[in-house]
Parts: sequence; structure tokens; C-alpha cells
Amino acid sequence: MKFYITTPIYYVNDIPHVGHSYTTIAADVMARWKRLNNYDVFFLTGTDEHGAKIAAAAKTKDVTPQKLCDEMSAKFRQAWELLNISYTDFIRTTEQRHSIAVEKIIQILFDKGLIFKKKYEGLYCVGCERFYVPKDLDESGCCLFHKTKPVLQSEENYFFKLSSFQNALLERIADPHNEEYIEIQPEERRNEIIGKLKLGLEDVSFSRTAIEWGIPVPFDKEQTVYVWVDALVNYIAAIGYPENKSKFQKYWAADIHLMAKDILWFHSVIWPAILIGAGLSLPKKVYSHGFFTLSGSKMSKSLGNVISPKELVDKYGVDAARYLMATLIPFGHDGDISWQGLTLQYNTDLANNLGNLISRTVKMAEKYFNLTVPRTEPNLELVKEVANILKRSFAQNMDNLELHKASEVLRSAITLVNRQIEIDAPWKLAKTDTNKLASCIYSYLQTADIIAMHMLPFMPVISEKIWQITGASGNINEVAKKYFADTIIPATGFSISAAQLQASEILFPRIA
Ligand SMILES: [Zn+2]
Repeated sequence: MKFYITTPIYYVNDIPHVGHSYTTIAADVMARWKRLNNYDVFFLTGTDEHGAKIAAAAKTKDVTPQKLCDEMSAKFRQAWELLNISYTDFIRTTEQRHSIAVEKIIQILFDKGLIFKKKYEGLYCVGCERFYVPKDLDESGCCLFHKTKPVLQSEENYFFKLSSFQNALLERIADPHNEEYIEIQPEERRNEIIGKLKLGLEDVSFSRTAIEWGIPVPFDKEQTVYVWVDALVNYIAAIGYPENKSKFQKYWAADIHLMAKDILWFHSVIWPAILIGAGLSLPKKVYSHGFFTLSGSKMSKSLGNVISPKELVDKYGVDAARYLMATLIPFGHDGDISWQGLTLQYNTDLANNLGNLISRTVKMAEKYFNLTVPRTEPNLELVKEVANILKRSFAQNMDNLELHKASEVLRSAITLVNRQIEIDAPWKLAKTDTNKLASCIYSYLQTADIIAMHMLPFMPVISEKIWQITGASGNINEVAKKYFADTIIPATGFSISAAQLQASEILFPRIA
């Protein structure tokens, strides 16, 4: 089975910040989860590099647009390397494989009569690089995202007959039984899209004149393809469209397009209309997550409150930063993040709960058994209970991208083991029953290993470290694949073979 997941391609007029990281970490968690479930995963990210804003920024810096794009695109790659993002491919819209795909799609739509030339006058927001109609703007006539007044622009452009797709889109978006159903998530935004669709669609401009930094329209070199249309095509260009047919057929359609809510319309309406027009199948799911504020204010360069991936990693370490970002806000909804909130969650979930479980267990193994726990029957009841808690809802939450809920399930499993340690009171058993003591410690180690396997998508490095510390045998990723495929069950397949532990180190030092 294949699984194709995408992030949006990020516009290179900005440096990677916590907003980009949020989407990309979530996609990475999902990609890693699907790999553990034996899917052939294609995980795509990249950079969006054309348009007036980039050309203007390059001019200010006195460099060519291409040079600016090279520099900025590299910053995204570095950020994803820092955050241990396991993307399969990184596409740039200035690559030839991309422009070939864009030209092909535009030509097909033109040949089918879906693109026509028209003089247009409209309200253009340079920040968004798009035209708006008055009903899209706020009471004072400003762009909802930039709070600036769009300027009236008039030009002759190529238009896409979006208006003729109203019914085709409604059928595919509103009816779950439709063969080509696109699932839009979360529900409330799906309803908004359906509501807007019912009001009717206007044809949209697909090209610009006088913007040189773009892909020329194949049948009219005076015009370049509108940057938003150009960008959307990356999702098929990266998997080989139009030349590598077998690769394209293998991975298309996308299983999830992931993005922030401000670009949901493009992904759930304009992109599917293009695909229907070009005779291609539709993405299965379009998932938009919310916006977040930082300590109550909008994140902005001018406020100086932008958090970079590096700041997150410097403070919490890579794995913890990934875990915190992925789970702090209910995925899909708006929320607020703050350093205080992140640190609190770090200390609660990681330093106190998980970190404590590992360190106290290993300390006991060291103190009572010199790190070699005798092979005994573990307390299977505890092991099974932990496995069951996780089995009941972890996978379902992960598959639904409810990452915060998945982390709640993990938290309750860890808490259960920590409580059981209090109940067992191994320090008392040490004086009375060393057999039972060994059995208890053995069961804590086993549960830690089960928890570590579930933590892998969030914290790939630390999960592996836990696996080593507890003396578990085999490669954690390989064992986890078998575990999630139900081919091994707790207490048989992955148990600590020699129970030879590694001396404990502090996995999550407390942060003030
Ligand atoms: Zn705007």
C-alpha cells in the first residue's frame, strides 16, 4: 500500500518559522507512523519560488531572483534537517521538472477550452498574490490576512472557467459516497467550503502580465502562469507527471494534502477543479490546520515574536520540540502557544512522566540487579493493560491526525505504569521477594518498550535510545513494524532478551 502526503510548498519570501515547522512536523509524524504501518510512503515538501514578491525582494537585495530563491530554499532544507524531517522529496518550483508539469497542465486546460482570455479589473492583494472580490474582504475593505487594502488592477489575463465546476465540486465534496469524494477536514471548514460553493463560483485568473519571474504561459509567452496555480502543480510534478507515468500512477492521488487554513480554498476548490479539468483523479483528503498565536498575539516579524526552529531545538532538543509542536494544540484548530506553555508541557509529559518512568526503572535495575535483571515472567497484567490502552485508540487517533489525542493516550499509558510502580513498591520487595521484584522491573521495562514504539513518529531518536537503555533486542523500527502488524504480541517477540541494561542517562532534563 502506498501513502502520499504533502505539506504546502513554502513561499521563499519568508524564513522558516514555527508556523512552517508546525505543518511539516505534523506531516512528518504522519509519514513516520504510516511507514511503521508498512506503507510505501511518499512524503513531499518543498519551496514555492515565483511571483512578484520574490522578484521585488531580489531587486532590493540586488541579486537575481534565482539566487535569492537558492538561498532561501536552502534555509528550509536546513530547518527540516534540524527537525529530523524524513521527507522523500523536496521540490522547488524553479526546477525544470516542475515547469514541464505546469506547462502541460495549462496546455491541456487550454486545449479543452477551459482557459480563455479576458480583460479583468480587480482588487489585488500583493501580500496574498491574488485577486479578491469585495465580499472576501473585511468591513473596511482590507485583506483578512494582511489588513491592507488591495489595489485596483486591470489587465488582460487568461482565465480558468472555475464557474463551470460548481456542481462537479459539490458532488465530490459534499457526498461521501461519490467515487471521487474529497474528504475535507476539519468538519467545520468542510461546511464553510460547501456553503461557499453553493453560492456559486467565479472564473479565476490563471495568468499575469508584466510579471516576469514565473513560468511562461505555453501558448502566449507574454504572460506568466499565476503563482498560485504554478504552486499547486508541484504535487503531481514531484511524483513524475507527466513523463514518469509509472511513478505517477503509483503515488497519485495524494492521500493527504496538509496545510494551514488560509490556503484551504486553493486546495479544496481550485486544485480539484484543475484536476477534474485535466482528467486526473482527486486527492483523497485535504486537511487544514488552524492558526496559532504566540502568547496571545499574532506572530509577526514586526512584533519580533517569531519563533525559529532553531530556538525550539536549542531549548528542548529535537525530539521534544517535535513532540511539543505536534501535540500542544488540538490539531486542526486554532490555539495559542507560548514558551511558558511549551515548557510546562515538556516538564509534565517528558521530564516528569516519561523521563521519570525510564530513569527510576533503570535505577532500580541498577541498584538491585546491577543492570542485569534475571529472566523471569513479567507482570503480564500490566504489560497487557498498557498494550490495550494504546491499542484501543492510539492508531485511530494517529490515522485521523488527532495527534494531541494520540499523545493523551500515551500519557495515560505512562501514568499507569508510574502508578503501578508506587503500588508494587519494589523498594519493599527488595527486602522480601527478589523473584517478584525482578518480575516487576521486567514488566516496567517491557511497557517502556511498548511506549517507545508508539513514540517513534514523534521522537524517533529518543525512542530508540529508550529501546537501547532497556536492553530490548532488535531494531526498534523493525520490531515496531511487526508489532503494529500484530505479528508479535507483548511479552513474546520483543522482550528484553538478556535484560542487560545500559546505565541510565537523563533523557529529559527539567527546564526552568
Ligand atoms: Zn492579503
